[in-house]
Amino acid sequence: MDGTGPALVELTGVNKHFGDLHVLRDIDLTVRKGEVLVVVGPSGSGKSTLCRAINRLETIDSGTITVDGAPLPAEGKALARLRADVGMVFQSFNLFAHKTVLDNVTLGPRKVRGASGKDAEQEALTLLRRVGVEDQARKMPAQLSGGQQQRVAIARALAMHPKVMLFDEPTSALDPEMVQEVLDAMVALAKEGMTMIVVTHEMGFARKAADRVVFMADGQIVEEADPDTFFTAPTSSRAKDFLSKIL
Ligand code: ADP
Ligand code: MG
Repeated sequence: MDGTGPALVELTGVNKHFGDLHVLRDIDLTVRKGEVLVVVGPSGSGKSTLCRAINRLETIDSGTITVDGAPLPAEGKALARLRADVGMVFQSFNLFAHKTVLDNVTLGPRKVRGASGKDAEQEALTLLRRVGVEDQARKMPAQLSGGQQQRVAIARALAMHPKVMLFDEPTSALDPEMVQEVLDAMVALAKEGMTMIVVTHEMGFARKAADRVVFMADGQIVEEADPDTFFTAPTSSRAKDFLSKIL
């Protein structure tokens, strides 16, 4: 876990509008291999759009985004490969409701990576064990708690062998007693050296795992600091105001 590796995700002069709304304003951001970046900011500041742009779930109007040195592909196999390289875990648990937990995790590797059913299943079970839900493998998502489903979502993204993992408020839809089990799985992943971009207001996670915190407001990066500095001594008035509301 450090910030000294080569650039893995790089945004340069990125702008995005939704109609008249300027949601990403001249974003410059570099995330290095092995780095854990936490993104915080008020609702509507553009955090989700930023994540979605890196995965090309949203297009951008200007600027460039590269993942591992390559510009984002527009379509086809290259786009499927990008989506595999950039694992994403959303606030809502986006598991396939009509497939078992195990099938949820093996589907991508079999379809996109061309893994054999047996290999995919073995790796899926290993990943499910890593996030502590191996015993749920034969169940349907609806039979799992929210915290368990979110850990399955993490395992499913990891099964694609991503280069970077994006988490967009992964614990904000969870009952409070389930937040920690998901954060623990994320901390473990960070310690193993995964490059991560995490939108969260969980200060405990940031303190334990983040190398850097970025504060966004109105589509701009307003402040950037190590987690202790950001949470205890923010410099901008926007960040101070924001922290006074969430802490
Ligand atoms: P955050 O994740 O920080 O809450 P978002 O990236 O979701 O912020 O949204 C940034 C702004 O863009 C908000 O004002 C939101 O309403 C708007 N927005 C997001 N997605 C769309 C969309 N598909 N169409 C129009 N406006 C959108
Ligand atoms: Mg959001």
